[in-house]
Amino acid sequence: MPVIAPWYNRGVVRILIVEDELKVASFIRRALEEESYAVDVCSDGVQGRDMASEVDYDLILLDLLLPGLGGIDALKAMRDAGVTAPILILTARSKVEQRVKGLDAGADDYLTKPFAIEELLARVRALLRRTGGDTAGVLHIDDLLLNPVTREVTRGGRRIELTSKEYALLEYMMRNTGRVLTRPMIAEHVWDLDFDTFTNVIDVYISYLRNKIDRDHERALIHTVRGSGYTLKAADG
Ligand code: CA
Repeated sequence: MPVIAPWYNRGVVRILIVEDELKVASFIRRALEEESYAVDVCSDGVQGRDMASEVDYDLILLDLLLPGLGGIDALKAMRDAGVTAPILILTARSKVEQRVKGLDAGADDYLTKPFAIEELLARVRALLRRTGGDTAGVLHIDDLLLNPVTREVTRGGRRIELTSKEYALLEYMMRNTGRVLTRPMIAEHVWDLDFDTFTNVIDVYISYLRNKIDRDHERALIHTVRGSGYTLKAADG
């Protein structure tokens, strides 16, 4: 069970994968992480049910044939426990009645295996867009806009292309506007790793972001807080 700091959970879109085929699970995980989603994986129905109830996920991907507790029962248990996150069923079963059963039990959508990863990502985006919530709102500071659903970033109306790490760093900073973010906070949040090995990487990525976000603008938004870390704030406070 991952330990989740309070500020972490608000920063990104969190997705739970409940899938016992490890190859499939890690394939999906990698694809989602490349899109900057934060991903947890578990491989049986009981654990899936428990994690879904304990962590406030934005989306759950649920396999139907699972050890422990079957997917349909896990799904019912999640809904009974008050889990409102959209649930996308992944199933090798193509029978109509299985899909109907899943949807009746509270699933929002289903995908039949094998599927193209592009289709999975598109459905994930569609479900996140549909459910909205605070993660779907466009973030803005000064004339910098970031749309967490489409992952578009613009400044002064001009589109800014970011790599997935740059995007994750900026989204984290925009969700914590005006707050001083220390390097350990950034390392743990954006890289999901210990701080020690990442000291320089953070400074390098901040300079990448400065080049893309601030360089051609009069008002700088990314500020260094000497001895502490970085903060994103509008020039006029
Ligand atoms: Ca399975």
